[in-house]
Amino acid sequence: GKAEARGSFRFFEPEMDARLQARRVLERDLRDALSREAFEVYYQPIYSLDTDRICGFEALLRWNHPQRGFISPAEFIPIAEELGLIVPLGEWVLRQACEEATRWPDGLKVAVNVSAVQFTSASLVTAVREALRWTGLPGRRLELEITESVLVANPGATTAILHSLKALGVRVAMDDFGTGYSSLSYLRSFPFDKIKIDQSFVRDLCIKDGTDFIVRAVIGLGASLGMTTTAEGVETEAQLAQLRAEGCDEVQGYLFSRPVPVSEVAAVILRWNGA
Ligand code: C2E
Ligand code: CA
Ligand code: CA
Ligand code: CA
Repeated sequence: GKAEARGSFRFFEPEMDARLQARRVLERDLRDALSREAFEVYYQPIYSLDTDRICGFEALLRWNHPQRGFISPAEFIPIAEELGLIVPLGEWVLRQACEEATRWPDGLKVAVNVSAVQFTSASLVTAVREALRWTGLPGRRLELEITESVLVANPGATTAILHSLKALGVRVAMDDFGTGYSSLSYLRSFPFDKIKIDQSFVRDLCIKDGTDFIVRAVIGLGASLGMTTTAEGVETEAQLAQLRAEGCDEVQGYLFSRPVPVSEVAAVILRWNGA
């Protein structure tokens, strides 16, 4: 009844308050962090099964919070998106990553994650062009990773933006493939260069019946659409062997290296590719 409903509302109120409070503090800290550039970009190697060498790195954002230590991007990126802070933050990551990549051997590319919110902002193509111009990184060495949610929001505008990016020589990857719902039709209608097979599938490889078949199908689908495939979250030799057998092009995961700070990138390259 009514009294009951009111009672339960009162019961949850303090908890809601606490959560809202925590959230406000995080919002304030996030704005503050952006103005002080308290973020850092980490890099995780991407390994080519064709050449058996590292072929690039994915840039992954880190926030070292003064009280809480490292906060996961999974936690703060949605907030940055809501506050509109993701646009300046995303542009900062892009510049950092492009600049860092100019110091790597020429064949190595850098992959940067782009949020759906950045993608719908008119400034993305300009930001990419500027980042390339300022750093001198050739467009072909930059790859942007986007998730399906971008395509759902505004398919028409997205197609136009993807074509503008490709005109700069930049490659585009569909991230977290298999986690959304309309992946198949999207793959056909948008000019992606690469599919990243979500780590949830890789985790189930060699464990859950049917997963091998799905992964094989995705790799085949990519190949028939002229796209390369990267498997993420590779942690075991068994997963690697399976992916190799299925003809996956690239792999990424803790088996090769965790994401590392900029200071350790050269050592990772040396370890896998030699001098
Ligand atoms: P993602 O793009 O799917 O990135 C892969 C995530 O898997 C990263 O988590 C990476 O550290 C983690 N990972 C890599 N190898 C393994 C493995 O072998 N096992 C396991 N369990 N995990 C592995 P991270 O760095 O915490 O990033 C989480 C998500 O935050 C990313 O998922 C991406 O969606 C988002 N993100 C990170 N950096 C940025 C950024 O600069 N901009 C935007 N818009 N999003 C970002
Ligand atoms: Ca990614
Ligand atoms: Ca992913
Ligand atoms: Ca993910």
